[in-house]
Amino acid sequence: MRKKLLVGNWKMNGLSSSLGEIKAMADAAERLTCGLVVVPPFTLIERASVVCCSSKLSVGGQDCHPQRSGAFTGDTSAEMLLDAGARYVILGHSERRSDHRETDNLVSTKAAAATQSGLVAIICVGETQEERDAGRTIEIVERQLAASVPAVATAANTVIAYEPVWAIGTGRVPTVAQIGEVHLAMYEALKQRFGGSGGSISLLYGGSVKPDNAASIFAVDYVDGALVGGASLKASDFVAIAEVLSAH
Ligand code: PEP
Repeated sequence: MRKKLLVGNWKMNGLSSSLGEIKAMADAAERLTCGLVVVPPFTLIERASVVCCSSKLSVGGQDCHPQRSGAFTGDTSAEMLLDAGARYVILGHSERRSDHRETDNLVSTKAAAATQSGLVAIICVGETQEERDAGRTIEIVERQLAASVPAVATAANTVIAYEPVWAIGTGRVPTVAQIGEVHLAMYEALKQRFGGSGGSISLLYGGSVKPDNAASIFAVDYVDGALVGGASLKASDFVAIAEVLSAH
């Protein structure tokens, strides 16, 4: 069975003064039935993990290096994230793919390293506006899935997030039919490649999810939760979305 999960990606936002938001999320997590993950910047992972330690809120990282250690200035390994208290890591976010030229192959290598270290890899895929306009959405998402998800992926160590690039941080959201078409295609592709375990991999939607559009998105078949950016910075908004998912 696919697990319901809500993940909040803080991107390059958050200082010590933001830990109170994480504490409020941790308190709320106790009464929620969906899984809840907050992904702060690297600098807050360890302190966020302390705040969350006896709660149902998990902490994640926003990227990791494919190697365990070595001469890679500025990078962080999966093992280091785990050591700091993280249990999840977002990989292949469109901002990493565009700003840091990350390829499907690199994302797959990172995901394999993350899962080998004991982290759950949240692998992001999604088309640009030009690709959607050209009618290539399903082709692009299937190609990214095939090449970014490593052979070691299972329902226990991998989550997929469908994030249309044009919907991230823009307030523009695909129609429920458009989301449903992509999620069904992802479900079928993963089931075909990995069998029963592939069909149990949680499929998140991401792109301008807010408390007021969450119910219609979570009603779509094969949508098991969301990857949320802007609306995850305030506990009140993030918890409101989690309540919608828990009630679904
Ligand atoms: C994201 O950063 O992955 C994201 C979906 O952002 P937003 O919710 O702000 O569109």
